[in-house]
Amino acid sequence: MQLTLVDLFDLTHGQSGRGQEGEAVEADSHKQQSASRTANDRTYDLLWAFAAEGGAFLCECDRTSCTERVPMTPSEYVRLRDRDEPIYASGHELA
Ligand SMILES: [Zn+2]
Repeated sequence: MQLTLVDLFDLTHGQSGRGQEGEAVEADSHKQQSASRTANDRTYDLLWAFAAEGGAFLCECDRTSCTERVPMTPSEYVRLRDRDEPIYASGHELA
């Protein structure tokens, strides 16, 4: 089992941020994407806080069942956010 920083966040912060995201996600890909973005922003904050060189960010494609993670450094993440570009796992940008 692989423990990611997102999981680490959930462990250290309990249920915070999870909210009602479990419902209706399957029917709303935009909600799915924003949930991934929110999680990725949290991952970035953690990476930054721990001065980590890299982490695993969630793929932000519109496949509701997607659980792919994309290895990336914090600076690469910032660069994508600056351009407002989503994070995609390999091949998922065509989904
Ligand atoms: Zn994906």
